[in-house]
Amino acid sequence: EELYGIKNWGNGYFSVSDSGEVLVNPYKDNGSAAVSLMDIISGVRERGLDMPVLLRFENLLDSQISFLNNSFNDAMKKLNYKGAYRGVYPIKVNQQQQVVEEVTRFGQRYHHGLEVGSKAELVAALSVMKDKEACLICNGYKDEEFIDLGLYAVKMGFKCFFVIEIPGELEIVMERSKALGIKPNIGIRIKLSAKAGGHWTESGGDRSIFGLNMSQVIAMVDELKEKNMLDSLRLLHYHLGSQIPNIRDIRSAVLEAARVYAELVKEGAPMGYLDLGGGLAVDYDGSNTNYTCSRNYTVEEYCTDIVEAVMTTLDSSEVDHPIIVTESGRTTVAYYSVLLFNVLDVEKFEEHHDIPDKLDENTSEQIRNLYDVNRNITLKNIQECYNDALYYRDEIRDMFKHGRLSLRERAFSEKIFWNTINQIAKEKKKLKNAPPDLEDIESAIADIYYCNFSVFQSIPDSWAIDQLFPIMPLHRLLELPKRNAVIADITCDCDGKIDHFIDLHDVRNTLPLHEMKNGDDYYLGVFLVGAYQETLGDLHNLFGDTNVVSVRINSDGTYDLVKEIHGDSVSDVLSYVEFDPKDMLVSFREKAEQAIHDGLISASERPEIMRAYDNGLRGYTYYER
Ligand code: PLP
Repeated sequence: EELYGIKNWGNGYFSVSDSGEVLVNPYKDNGSAAVSLMDIISGVRERGLDMPVLLRFENLLDSQISFLNNSFNDAMKKLNYKGAYRGVYPIKVNQQQQVVEEVTRFGQRYHHGLEVGSKAELVAALSVMKDKEACLICNGYKDEEFIDLGLYAVKMGFKCFFVIEIPGELEIVMERSKALGIKPNIGIRIKLSAKAGGHWTESGGDRSIFGLNMSQVIAMVDELKEKNMLDSLRLLHYHLGSQIPNIRDIRSAVLEAARVYAELVKEGAPMGYLDLGGGLAVDYDGSNTNYTCSRNYTVEEYCTDIVEAVMTTLDSSEVDHPIIVTESGRTTVAYYSVLLFNVLDVEKFEEHHDIPDKLDENTSEQIRNLYDVNRNITLKNIQECYNDALYYRDEIRDMFKHGRLSLRERAFSEKIFWNTINQIAKEKKKLKNAPPDLEDIESAIADIYYCNFSVFQSIPDSWAIDQLFPIMPLHRLLELPKRNAVIADITCDCDGKIDHFIDLHDVRNTLPLHEMKNGDDYYLGVFLVGAYQETLGDLHNLFGDTNVVSVRINSDGTYDLVKEIHGDSVSDVLSYVEFDPKDMLVSFREKAEQAIHDGLISASERPEIMRAYDNGLRGYTYYER
C-alpha cells in the first residue's frame, strides 16, 4: 500500500482492502460502500468485455463537483463575501457526451455551467445545457456562425458570454449583435504579467498567445463607449495555464486581475463576473509539493486564497464583490476514470548471468577488457567501470559488425556486460548521491512488463509531456512485489513505454511489480486519467478507443454498470483512415480466388480463410483472449 502511495494520491476515494485489492469508495466516510476493482473486472469479464477497459465512476464526478462548489461556498461564507461562485466545466478537458451530460446533471444544484472553446463545443453545450442560472462561457476564436449561435442562446435566456480573446473579435460581435438585435454579454480576456510554473506556463504571462494587453483593454473600453455598448461589458477573464503547482502564482494572478476588474468598474462597465480560468492542480503523486505533478495547496486553500484576494483588492477600491467563476477541468474529472489492463507477458532481466571464473585462452582482447571491468567493481569506481563497460561493449559491437567477432562471442560479451551493469546498479544503491550518469540505470536492468493497452491512445500525456500518473497492481497487495519493472504497451513503438513513476520525494525509474504466476491474470490500473487523456489520445498503430464502462457505486457496497460503450473494432479504426471494410473484403476475396487459381489453397479452404479475415475486421483492436 505504502509502496504505491495510494493514501497520498487516492484523495480518500481509493484504498487497499484487507485482502490486498484496490478499493474505490466515493462515500469517503462510509467504509462499507467500498468496492474492489477486481470485483468490477470480474463483472466486466463475465459480460464478455475484454481489457483494456476505461472505468468511469459517476459518483466521483458528482463528489468532485460538490467538493469544489462547497469549498468555494464555505470560503465565501467564512469570509463574508457578498458575491457568489459559479463554476464552469471546460468541455475540452473531456468532451465525451456522457461526461458533459453528467457534469451538467450533477452540477445543476450548484448552477455549474460549461466553458466552450470552439463552435463544435458550443453546439454540444447547447444540446445538454438546461440551467439558465449557470454560465456558458465562450472562449476561443469565434466566427460569425459561432457568434450568431451564442447570441441566440442569450435570447433564449442562457447566461452566455463571449470572451474577447483578440482585439479584432470585438467588431464582429458588435456587428452581429446589431444585425440580430440581441445585446451580447461581453467578456474580456487579459494577459497578466503574472506567470506560473508548471507544464503549461505559456498560457499566462505577457507573451501568451491569447488575451489582450492593457493598452488593448483600454482601446476596447473606448470603442465600447464610443458605440454606446459599455453596458455589455460584464466579465473579466484570464487563464494562467493548467496544473499550477504553486499557490503563490495563483494568488498573485488573482490580485492582479482583481485590480484590472476594479479599474474596469471605474471606467463605467457594469461587470459582475470575474472568471479566473483553470489551473487548479491535481496532486498526481500525492507529495503536496510545488512539483509539476503535484500542488502545494488544498482545494480549500485555493478557494480561500482566491476569495480573500478578490475581497481585499475590491474592498479597498469600494467595488462590489463579483460572481467568481473558475473553469476547473482537471480537478473536476481527473479522479473520475481509471484505465485497467492486463499484463500479457514479461521479459525478465536475468540477474545471474553465469560468468566463468576464468576466460578461455583465445578470448579476444576486447572481451577480456570487459571481463576485467566486471571483476574489479567497487563502490568507489562505479562511474569509471560504467564508462569502461559501455566503451568495451561498443567496441565489441563494432568488431561484430566488421566480421571480426562471431555471434557466439558477441552473445558471451553481452552476458558479461549485463552482469556488470547489474553489479553497478547494486553498488549505486549504497551511495547517497549517485553520479548523474547512473540516474537511469535501474530501468536498464528492469523487467519489461508487456501490457494490453496503448500509451498513445489512453495516456498520451505520459508520452508527450512526461506527465506522471499513479500506476499500481489492483490485487496481490499483501505480497511484497519482488520485481522492478518498466511497462511496455502493445504498439511496438519504442516510445510506447512507461519508465517514470510517481514517488513522494522524486521520480522513480521502475515500478515494483509481482512475479507473474503461471497462467494467472495480473491486472494493473492507471489512475486519475479522466482529464485530457481521452480527447488527446490517437490511433497510433491503429489501436482504437478502449471499452468504456461506467459504474455507479451504491452506499451499501454494491455497484451498477450504468453504461457500456464498446471500444473501436478493427474495421472502425480502418474506416477512420479512409479504408472501406466492404471493399477490403472484396479485395481479399479476390486474392483468395487467385490463390485457388494458382493451386495454393483449395476452394473448400476459402470460407475458413474469409472467416478469419472477417473476424479480424470485427475484432477489438487490443489483445483478445
Ligand atoms: N480554461 C481555459 C481557457 C483553458 O485553456 C483550460 C485548459 O488549459 C482550462 C480552462 C482548464 O484548465 P484546468 O484543467 O487546469 O482546470
